[in-house]
Amino acid sequence: MTEEGTGALPVEGVPAERVLAEIRTLRAADRPTHGGRLFAYVYDPGVAGLDELARAAYAESAHVNGLDPTAFPSLLAMENALVGAAARLLGGGPGTSAPDVVGSVTGGGTESLILAVKAARDDRPDLAEPRLVVPASGHAAFAKAAHYLRVALDTVPVEPVTLRPAVADMAAAIRPETVLVACSAPAYAHGVVDPVTEIAAVAAAAGVRCHVDACFGGWTLPWLRRLGEPVPAFDFAVDGVTSISVDLHKYAYAPKGVSVLLHRDAALRAPQYFGYADWPGYTMVNPVIASTRSGGPIAAAYATLRHLGEAGYLRLAALTRAAVSGLADAVRAVDGLRLLAEPASTVVCFTSDDPGLDLFVLVDELTARGWHTQSQLGYAGLPASVHLTVTAAVAPRVAEFGPALADAAAAARAAGPVALPPELRALAASLAPEALTPELIAGLAAGLGLGAGSAPDRMAAVHTLLDAAPVRLRERLLVEFVGLLQRPTW
Ligand SMILES: *Cc1c(COP(=O)(O)O)cnc(C)c1O
Repeated sequence: MTEEGTGALPVEGVPAERVLAEIRTLRAADRPTHGGRLFAYVYDPGVAGLDELARAAYAESAHVNGLDPTAFPSLLAMENALVGAAARLLGGGPGTSAPDVVGSVTGGGTESLILAVKAARDDRPDLAEPRLVVPASGHAAFAKAAHYLRVALDTVPVEPVTLRPAVADMAAAIRPETVLVACSAPAYAHGVVDPVTEIAAVAAAAGVRCHVDACFGGWTLPWLRRLGEPVPAFDFAVDGVTSISVDLHKYAYAPKGVSVLLHRDAALRAPQYFGYADWPGYTMVNPVIASTRSGGPIAAAYATLRHLGEAGYLRLAALTRAAVSGLADAVRAVDGLRLLAEPASTVVCFTSDDPGLDLFVLVDELTARGWHTQSQLGYAGLPASVHLTVTAAVAPRVAEFGPALADAAAAARAAGPVALPPELRALAASLAPEALTPELIAGLAAGLGLGAGSAPDRMAAVHTLLDAAPVRLRERLLVEFVGLLQRPTW
């Protein structure tokens, strides 16, 4: 039993101000959610007053339950408004080629994708073994959906230069059991937009649904197009696109917990619902995975969209575009670094062509200088890379990033590549996931500085070990390592 300290259930309750102070102390160890120095996980517009508004709106609806839209019409009204706004932004609604578009507000991009796959699967109850076709660059959430829903996953490789799948390969992957073909606008890892028009056409020709994962880009590409960028067609204007997902908790700059899944018409959405009356409790009908869900994220998203408006988002997109181009210039200026793709959205992604400049060490050096980037492992012939998700709050920081990157690169060169003991590297390359014992995992974790409840400041050794391992072993090691961190405190 805990009276003091950080226990969640003390014998006597702790005064409100002290509890908040404790949370703030814990938060001090987190990466900075604001200030334009964190290039993943968070989306910061840097708009004064917006946080306060979203917080207040969240608080208004935090205890409202999205379980039953007849009991809480406020949430129904706000959800319908969010779906309408997303649909209009993405080529649907009155006067468009998709006038009958409908949708749902979900808890996040992963939930939107799982539901898109579920709707497609349950539309074909005749199939014993439904299948899903996704480019290799598609978000991991498609694999999660396939796994959860027992849908077979057919992954189509991307070409190493364009980082896009060949349309012919996508077409060839479609089988009689295929229930859904997916593509991305853009894919998260490299920020590359798939050839949506061509992929949707081959899906339509086969009579298969086509989902566009615009979780990342659905709330930026339309503004970038209005700013004159050459954004390819990717939304409901494209024939054959049957559903689109867009995350409001990304570039709509809403607090976490809101995404929208759109369908071209209500018949396509129908199998997404779960209705159940075969029990003695309340009759249940859910459009999404959760039953009870907070109105907080929905109200906060509604407030954010209404407050920023089209003019606000256009302004933020212009700032983001400027930041992307400044960051890309900073990368080009460092010898040995190379952009993996010319930035066409809001991602900057680069690799190292110089064996003396270890990317994972570079990421640690950037972290040590207060710049938080994301390491991506080498995969299927694609090199390891560094990913930057760029938001509007980065714009005022761009001038500082160039010197910091150059400095970090010099330090990474001086430090040299991670020196994994050769036997460890050999083990990573050859070990079968089934052969991992608790003792082996504990030894590896200790060697890498992964203690119970905490991760090391420097992650290069962890990334190097994972990078040396085949995919299945990577997965197993990740699960085991994170399992070590997630232990109860008493
Ligand atoms: C973020 C993202 C997802 C998953 O969304 P979550 O909100 O993290 O569940 C899916 N697809 C793309 C392209 C994404 O960027």
